[in-house]
Amino acid sequence: MASRTSNTLTLIATAAASAILTLQVWQSGATAFTTSVVAVLAGTNIAWTADTLRRAYTGHTVTCPRAGCTVQISMTGTTPDEQTRLTAIAFDHSRHGENH
Ligand SMILES: [Zn+2]
Repeated sequence: MASRTSNTLTLIATAAASAILTLQVWQSGATAFTTSVVAVLAGTNIAWTADTLRRAYTGHTVTCPRAGCTVQISMTGTTPDEQTRLTAIAFDHSRHGENH
């Protein structure tokens, strides 16, 4: 199972590769249009990476303890009360599962 650290490294490597690719396309003498398209794609990738990392480190994810159930609730910016409510739903399989 991938750890959070290895996921983080993969994400950073992907974002870095996007940035390097943009630089290489620009330096290869590509047109401004091509360069800007690649830059936008790289920017999207980097923004997505930053968001994923922010969720991993600032968010809170609870997983249902029932074997075979893949329900996960991710919380970001939730109040303590809301977090307690959502955690209870995630932990109590009968509140979200199909087979009670
Ligand atoms: Zn469940």
